[in-house]
Amino acid sequence: MDNGFKPKFLICTECNEEFVFTIQAQEYFAERGYSEDPKRCKSCHTTYKKVQRNGKPQGQTEIQYRD
Ligand SMILES: [Zn+2]
Repeated sequence: MDNGFKPKFLICTECNEEFVFTIQAQEYFAERGYSEDPKRCKSCHTTYKKVQRNGKPQGQTEIQYRD
């Protein structure tokens, strides 16, 4: 099995931890047409997506003040 992919070690821009850009993930990225490497580790990416979807980090509930 040689599809040209090799696991890459990248540094997360959020937590500065090294993470592996796995072959599976690279294939997934390639399928989607992404040409850039991921900038975040898996856990930061998950958090990031949650924030994007909800508009705010988890654990913060919206409070509406009314007079
Ligand atoms: Zn991270």
